[in-house]
Amino acid sequence: MNFFEPHVNVLQKDEMEDHAHHTHENQHHHDHSHHSSKDMKFVVLGSIIFAIAIVLRNTQYIRLGLFLISYILIGGEVLLRAFRNIQKGQIFDENFLMTIATVGAFIIGEYPEGVAVMLFYQIGEYFQSLAVNRSRRSIAELMDIRPDYANIITDIGEEKVDPRNVRVGDIILVKPGEKVPLDGSVIDGSSSVDTSALTGESLPRDVNVGNSVLSGFINKHGLLKIKVEKEFGQSTVSKILQLVETAGNKKAPTENFITKFAKYYTPFVVMVAALIGIIPPLVLAEATFSQWFYRALVFLVVSCPCALVISIPLGFFGGIGGASREGILIKGGNYLEALNSVDTLVFDKTGTLTRGKFSVEEIYTNEKITKDELLEIAANVESFSNHPIAQSVVYEYKGSLNKEGITQYKELAGLGVSAVYNGRKVLLGNGGLFKDNNIDIHQMDKPGTIINIALDDIYQGSIVISDKLKDDAKEGLEIIKDLGIKETIMLTGDNKQVADDIAKRIGIDRVYSNLLPQDKVRILEELQDNVIKGRKLAFIGDGINDAPVLARADIGIAMGGLGSDAAIEAADIVLMTDEIKKIPTAFKIARKTRQIVWQNIIFALGVKAIVLILGAGGHASMWEAVFADVGVALIAVLNASRVLKYKPI
Ligand code: ADP
Ligand code: MG
Repeated sequence: MNFFEPHVNVLQKDEMEDHAHHTHENQHHHDHSHHSSKDMKFVVLGSIIFAIAIVLRNTQYIRLGLFLISYILIGGEVLLRAFRNIQKGQIFDENFLMTIATVGAFIIGEYPEGVAVMLFYQIGEYFQSLAVNRSRRSIAELMDIRPDYANIITDIGEEKVDPRNVRVGDIILVKPGEKVPLDGSVIDGSSSVDTSALTGESLPRDVNVGNSVLSGFINKHGLLKIKVEKEFGQSTVSKILQLVETAGNKKAPTENFITKFAKYYTPFVVMVAALIGIIPPLVLAEATFSQWFYRALVFLVVSCPCALVISIPLGFFGGIGGASREGILIKGGNYLEALNSVDTLVFDKTGTLTRGKFSVEEIYTNEKITKDELLEIAANVESFSNHPIAQSVVYEYKGSLNKEGITQYKELAGLGVSAVYNGRKVLLGNGGLFKDNNIDIHQMDKPGTIINIALDDIYQGSIVISDKLKDDAKEGLEIIKDLGIKETIMLTGDNKQVADDIAKRIGIDRVYSNLLPQDKVRILEELQDNVIKGRKLAFIGDGINDAPVLARADIGIAMGGLGSDAAIEAADIVLMTDEIKKIPTAFKIARKTRQIVWQNIIFALGVKAIVLILGAGGHASMWEAVFADVGVALIAVLNASRVLKYKPI
């Protein structure tokens, strides 16, 4: 282990690949595996010889010989690593520290200490690597959503194939207990699915013909026939795994700080040790060389910063893992740490604070057309849009759609849509759109989001639709306020009346309405400029029309990430469910992570400082030094793994 490089990434690349291909059995080498069973056999054998050497009392030379043999067996690997690293130019690592400390012990005749230091060091390392591997495995298991196979239905019947080989349009069968391998929609059967691996939501969701299902869901009881809509690489599971895979590459400032710290710290410590060994015997009359040399060695053993180096990345890694268990995907330790500095929280409205499921409240027409005709036109034109408004209009229309009737469809972000339907030009959207086109509209007096419709540039009527607040919006915002977020702001393309009403009901501090997507970016930039230095702004959106804003904010949080590709890509944090309450949960996990990481930093440095002082003053032996080092590292690792299990309420 080289402690210049914190080496606990969130799922190291090779582990991810192992995980991907389910080849845990024939795992190849990765950097925690230097405690292979072969090494441990040497260590055990060495320990037995060490014990014999201690028991043997008479013959000096045989004892020395046995100590040397046990030393080589136990510590040979450390010596070898130290030697190799020196050749590579990385001199000051812990292997080097252990080597000079133990060789030094032999030189001054403290053989048992020399061997014992190595032995404890090896045992400590072994337990550390166990703990690290366990945590890494638990995040892998947590994210154990990758399907092994798909049951594809072909002319000759059913066949088990690699999900990678399934194409869009293929029909697959998912049996009870199986994972849904690819995103698609149910064409036959009904069941309930367990979505917890993706969403952290424990209640199963019912699915029927026509519903879409995502890869990673687990089919609970019914037999489902699914038409595949996305290839494996584009399916939700692949997207999420890619995201988690790269999370370790983005290091939190604290992690980077420790890496830098270790770089200066170690040479410094070696120098101090040299001074302790040399100066006092020269200056003080009664000081002996061997006594101070021993103290210098103790000092060296204690100075090893492994506890710090190992436990800090592990803390962040645990935080990311714990969050993913709650259905919160965090793309890096840097974002997890940044959450702690957020004081401005900016929300999108539709689909974020509100459900994005509009119901029609009123339809007005100018008599040239019936209400049903108006709805028919609107639904057909909207059937090409993914906007929550569009989907609600389509949902409201009970007749069948005539998609072939639509040509020249155009989405006017933040305004509406335009198209040619059955040969007539349709313009559909909000007041702003109609103003831009100089078309007068009837003013509706019912509060709500208004969709105006014109045929061949002549106004025909309006549909008033209204959305509902999310159930937990008010409560979620209260918790957010309790956590000390200074200001909450809402940006929306909807009209002022609707926006103000919502803000008042749930306690949003400031509102900007009637915004086009580019206005949202501009306002976000302004808000961003006003954030106090060192503080952060987070934007929360649903990824529809607001991906640029998500990308622009210090921290972009996408909601209801399931299914929305743009959101998963643009955001730094993806909330897998639609709940507002996940936001304070993410803040709490970030706090817990910070707390544990700092506990470890202070604890490790504190114990080190104490033993260093004791060692330099001659009050600590090498045994205590090793115990301090290994013990602190283990406790720090255990502490770090607490955040993985942390469940905020
Ligand atoms: P929000 O900021 O509330 O998330 P958007 O920026 O997505 O909303 O859209 C802003 C406004 O633009 C909507 O309130 C609506 O008036 C209009 N609009 C956008 N897309 C559509 C659409 N497909 N059909 C009708 N109106 C739309
Ligand atoms: Mg939106």
